[in-house]
Formats: sequence, structure tokens, C-alpha cells
Amino acid sequence: MVKQTIQIFARVKPTVRKQQQGIYSIDEDEKLTHSLEIVLPRDLADGFVNNKRESYKFKFQRIFDQEAKQEIIFEIIAKPVAESTLAGYNGTIFAYGQTGSGKTFTITGGAERYSDRGIIPRTLSYIFEQLQKDSSKIYTTHISYLEIYNECGYDLLDPRHEASKLEDLPKVTILEDPDQNIHLKNLSLHQATTEEEALNLLFLGDTNRMIAETPMNQASTRSHCIFTVHLSSKEPGSATVRHAKLHLVDLAGSERVSKTGVGGLLLTEAKYINLSLHYLEQVIIALSEKHRTHIPYRNSMMTNVLRDSLGGNCMTTMIATLSLEKRNIDESISTCRFAQRVALIKNEAILNEEIDPRLMIVRLQKEIEDLRAELAMATGEQRTEALTEAELLQLEKLIASYLEDQDPESRLEVGADMRKIHHCFHHFKKLLNDKKTQENPVSSESTQQACQEPLKDEEYTKLLGLLKQRDNEINILVNMLKKEKKKTQDALQNSSLEKSEVRPPQNSPFIAGSPAVPRTPFSSALSHTQDLSICRRRSSLLHKKTGMREEMSLGRQEAFEIFKRDHADSVTIEDNKQVLKQRFSEAKALGECINEARSKIGQLKDAINQRHLQQVALGVSENTVPASTPDPQEERLRAQLEEEKGRYKTTFMRLKALKVEIEHLQLLMDKAKVKLQKEFEAWWAEEATSLQVNSPATNLQDAMKPFPQQDQTQLLFKKSSRDLEVENGAGRLEVCDRNARRIRPSPSPSPNQQSQEPGGSRVPAQDRPTSSIPLTGDSQTDSDILAFIKARQSILQKKYLGEN
Ligand code: ADP
Ligand code: MG
Repeated sequence: MVKQTIQIFARVKPTVRKQQQGIYSIDEDEKLTHSLEIVLPRDLADGFVNNKRESYKFKFQRIFDQEAKQEIIFEIIAKPVAESTLAGYNGTIFAYGQTGSGKTFTITGGAERYSDRGIIPRTLSYIFEQLQKDSSKIYTTHISYLEIYNECGYDLLDPRHEASKLEDLPKVTILEDPDQNIHLKNLSLHQATTEEEALNLLFLGDTNRMIAETPMNQASTRSHCIFTVHLSSKEPGSATVRHAKLHLVDLAGSERVSKTGVGGLLLTEAKYINLSLHYLEQVIIALSEKHRTHIPYRNSMMTNVLRDSLGGNCMTTMIATLSLEKRNIDESISTCRFAQRVALIKNEAILNEEIDPRLMIVRLQKEIEDLRAELAMATGEQRTEALTEAELLQLEKLIASYLEDQDPESRLEVGADMRKIHHCFHHFKKLLNDKKTQENPVSSESTQQACQEPLKDEEYTKLLGLLKQRDNEINILVNMLKKEKKKTQDALQNSSLEKSEVRPPQNSPFIAGSPAVPRTPFSSALSHTQDLSICRRRSSLLHKKTGMREEMSLGRQEAFEIFKRDHADSVTIEDNKQVLKQRFSEAKALGECINEARSKIGQLKDAINQRHLQQVALGVSENTVPASTPDPQEERLRAQLEEEKGRYKTTFMRLKALKVEIEHLQLLMDKAKVKLQKEFEAWWAEEATSLQVNSPATNLQDAMKPFPQQDQTQLLFKKSSRDLEVENGAGRLEVCDRNARRIRPSPSPSPNQQSQEPGGSRVPAQDRPTSSIPLTGDSQTDSDILAFIKARQSILQKKYLGEN
């Protein structure tokens, strides 16, 4: 058991303006404890309340200042926790801080650069690297990703996420067993055999979270996300399985509603916006008080799920993320205060070992088989389940002669075969019962008497003695066989048992489906097949999410292209594309290098062989003894071979790392594309509604009065837009860019004709169409075109006029 208080770390987010002078300072004393001093700026401290403290000091295990890179955060904070998970202990890392302070950046990572990847991808990378290195155990890894929003749990890896809103998904619910273990129903566990698969699951969950987010449910600031790695390990041949869980938690923003604001009483009455964080604080307070017996875990789903991480069987680490700008001072102080309380909590982590009954049965079955084989070897006869007719007959004979034999020393020898021994007992019992019924078929009293007859007693004692003797014989035999078995065990060890898979943690709280139904080998086999199919589907899933555009109409696609071009994220996507291109060509070059090295290694090996043969042949032809000193040419070749092997290895490692980077960048890009798509859809829908809402009646109020309606196409325009004006004309639309608002059907080609048209003169000459788009007459496409024009307008507006 490892007793440990929750470790607390602080990370200060880079400020937009370089370090705001005098707001905070970081000290490190002789005992290597770090402290963060937050100084209230004079103007705030001297506000309404004059007796206010001017600075606050908080101790942390370590404080990471603005320049701290993701790498060091992983090395110092996450790596030790990952290591203890690999050793079989539960671990939790949670980020706590106000919205925008860098929780997601720290836990998951930034969306722009590969080097910005956060704790989760780095931990996955580390864990899989370690698993590969350690061949002494068999490991199985599963991933789950839970989101808690408004006290409801959602499975971010639920395949139905594709089609549903968050609210439509089945809720993940908590069930508690009699031992107070928590089980989560409806949370799926996905097996990940490689880092790549695990990373895919992370991005899939993140994308699902983003898609489900709406302005109404600001999931990213209001919800908690718990990414869990479930690790099982066992030694080959052992039925003992170790289960460990690693929770990586991105909590909801910790901001509070402060009644008094920065200038007044600092935060004493402030309330969390997020209720479950309020309950989290209550749990922390209860745990940090010495004599509290009741800890209110049950008040909220999050505290219930993280029960073990808080004051239980877990090694827990907290990262307080701070955005130390002037306006955030009170939130930062309250984050630090929370951390100080958390640091008082003691956890007791134990190794979670259990005997897997399934493996135990397999093991015992195997032992029986082995013993049978040994027995067959020892006795020279093959044992079957039941005794054969001949054997039975022979036994009956033996029993009969034994019973007839008057010699008290006589023995019934049936050999060391339990089946025969049992048969004898059955036989005796039968004889005894038969005798009893013959003597006195009705009276039970006399039966008792008969049993107590001295002769029977004697027989009993004899039988008991025999039984004991046989027991001893069997034990001796079994021991002998066991010793024999040990000798041959090495050969048998690589049997199917070792290869059999470790089932997912049975007592883990994350069992998919109802925990009331125990997992049989069949059900776990089934879930593994499901895992596999999910794995295969998974990589295409993100792709599918980004592929929605194919279903768009042409107009919409064009609008999307423009939207994309003007979107801030497109720079990131482009940048990443460039980086990817570069990485691909690097990978290609490395691949070539590897091939080159490989063929060179082959050539060198051949050369060495040939040289060797030559030397031997020379020795034979000259009939001389081979020289004891090594052949310098062969030595040179060998040195070259070693060098080439080294080159091969380093290039290979570089290519492997590059592959992970490429995969990560691709996933980042996919995610960015889905985000872009989502924002476009939202904007599009908004534009479409505003087009519909504005009826002709509104048009009347517009400075630009509607034109007489001439044909059906125009009717369509009239109905659908306030900003669109309809002129007579044969199905052509114009975009007038005076203020990029007025759109009207194009007049007939000649400008002269145009002036004769009703209302035509109201468009000044300089505002003549800059682009025109043919109408199709198909109402769907046409309304798409209209919306596209609208889209272009507002983009132009934003771009050139700075309008919102
Ligand atoms: P939270 O999850 O706490 O609301 P985020 O992680 O989303 O905050 O961070 C808000 C913004 O600040 C993001 O754009 C993120 O990329 C950026 N950011 C946060 N921490 C850092 C950091 N240490 N270095 C660079 N950028 C950061
Ligand atoms: Mg966040």
C-alpha cells in the first residue's frame, strides 16, 4: 500500500501582454518547495475595503511559469503517475481552473502544433512504449471517455454520437454494488492495442464532444471530461490479474459568481457557476477535516465517479491552471485556495489484484489434463471418464472375494484409481442398505440397532482404515505426479493458457451494459469482437465526420469554400497541411534511407560470408592452419556492418516517431475541419432563418422598395429575403456591392433596357453587378444560391467594412 497526499502543481498560462508586472512571483526555498505569491495591485487593494491583504502566498509541489512547455509538464507531472499505473496502482490527474486558464491545453493539448500535444497523447505514447518494452507480462488496454454535463453522463465514444445530439444519447448512469463499488452503465470500453488506436479514440471523443456542443450547452466550459485508460496485466501462466485505471480529467471551468467582485470582500461569498464543482469542494473540505466520517460523494455524479481518486485507492495529482491577469486575480486566488485544501487529502493506493476465475478454471483443467497424461505414462494405460465393463466386472469379483475372505488382514487392492475406490464404496453402501432392508424392512429402530452391532462396527473401522490408507496412497501419488509435472512444465508452458486473453476488468466501474449480468467468457468474447469492429470503423469515423460536405448542394459548397477561406482556423489547417507535406517527404526520405541501409546490411553480410569462405578455402588449398589473428578485412567489414546496423536502427526510430507525429497532425486537421464545418453549418442555419423571418412586409419598411413581381422565380426571391430585391428579368441574379447588401435579379443584358425597367434606375451605375449567377428554377438550388450570395455578402461586409 502506498500512502500519499494528493500532489498539487500549478501552471501559469502565458499572458497576451508579456508578464504583467508585479501580479505574481514564484519562489523556491531550500526545501525545494515552490511558492506562488499573488500580489493585489494597489488600485484593487485600496478599493472599498481598506484592511485588505495585499498579497497571498500558496505552496505547491512545483509551479510552472508561462514558458513551461508541454514536454516538461508531462515529464514532471504525468510520467510518475503513468509509471505507477503501469505498476498496477490507480492514478488520476485532474486540471482545475477557470475557463480559459489552460485546462484543456494541459490535459489534451493545443489544436495547432504537434509539440502542443498534452498529457493524454503523451501518456498514451509513454504507456504503449513501456508495454512494448516489457515482455514479462501480458497487458491489455482499454479506453473509455466520459463526459458529465448537467449531472448527466454521456459516453463520448458511443457510436451513436454520429447522428445524435448529446441529449438523445443513452445516459451513463451510476450503480453501486453491495461493496460500494461504483459501476457505470452505458459507458463503453474500447480495446486499444496500439498507441495509434488509443489516439484515434481520444480524437473521436473530442470531435464528438465538439459536435454535440451548442451555444446553449457550452459543454467545453460547463462539463467535465474523464478520459480513462484501463490497464490489465498478468504474468504468463498466472491466474492473478492486476487492474489499474488512469483517469485524466478536464474539469469544468471553476469560475464563480462573485457577489462583491474584485474590489470587495474577496470571494468569501462567491458561488460556483457549476454546481458539481461546489459538491467537489464539499467533498474536499470533508476529506481535509480530521474527524469527519461522512463524505458526501453521492451528491454529484462527478464526485461519485472520482470517489477513489479523492481520499481512496488512487495516486492523485491536481494541476491548478492559472491565468494570472489582473482581471482574473480573484479566480486565481480561489483556485490556489482550493489546491491548498486538496493537498491535505491523504490517499491510500493498493495493488488491485484479483484471481480471474476464468483463468483459474482453464489452469485447473490444464492441470487435470497434465496429471492424466502423467498417470497414463506411469500406469501405461489410458484413463477415460467411466470404468469399462471389463473393469467393473473385475472389481465386482475383487469385492466379492474380499468380502468372502475371513482373514482379518486381507486387503482389497484396487490400485490408485479414484474411480475404482468410489465404486467400491458405492458397492459397500449398497450391500449395507440391502442387508438392512432384508433384516428389518420397517423398523428404523432395529436398523439403528443393527448398525450398532459389534460386527458392523468392526467392518466400519476396517473400511475407515482402508479409506485412510487409500487417501494416503492417492496423496503420495499426486505429489509424485506433481514433481514429475514440474520437470516437464517448461515444455508445456507455451500452451494455450498463456495465449488466452485477459478479460477486461470485471470489478472495474466501467463495465459496458448492465453490471448485474456477470461477464461470462462468451460475453467478453463478444465484446472483444465488437472492440475489433469498432477499431476498424474508428479511423474512418473521423474521416466521415469531415466528409459531410459531399452532401452539400453546389451553392452551399461554394459558400463553404468562401467561409473556409476567411475563417481564422484555415491558417492553422493550411499550416498543418504544409507541415504534413514536409513530414511526409521526410518520412519518404527516411524510408529510402532505411531501404538503403537494409540492402547495404545484406551486401555486407554477403561480403563477410564470402570473405570467410575465401579464407577457409585458402587454408584448405594451402593446407595451413587458419590464422589465430582476425582477418583485418573481415574486421573492417564487420565494423561497417555494425555502423550500418546502427544507422538503420536510428533511422527506423526516427521514422517511427515521425509516423506518430503524422498521425497526430492528421487527426488535428480532421478535428479542425469538423469544427470549421460545424461553424459553417451554424452560420448557414442562422442566415437561412434570417432569410425566412424577413417577410415582404419587412421589405416595405426597407429603404429599397420591392419591385413588382414578374414571375415565379422572383416570387421566390421576394418571399425569402429582406435584403433581396426583385426586378423583372429572366432568371439572373446580381450582386450589387455598394454596401454588399442589395441583390436583385439581373436586368436584361442591355443597359439601355435596364433603365426602362420599373425600379431599375435605383441602382446607381457604379453599383452595377460585379457577379451574376444563373438561376436554375429549382427552388432548392436557388435558395442555396441566394444563401450563398448572402454568405458572400456578410463575409465581404465583415472583411471590408468591419461590420458584425
Ligand atoms: P480551459 O480549458 O481552461 O478553458 P484552454 O485550454 O482551452 O482553457 O485554453 C484557452 C486558450 O489558451 C486556448 O486557445 C489555448 O490554446 C491557450 N493556452 C492555454 N494554456 C496555454 C499555454 N500554456 N501555452 C500556450 N497557449 C495556451
Ligand atoms: Mg477546456
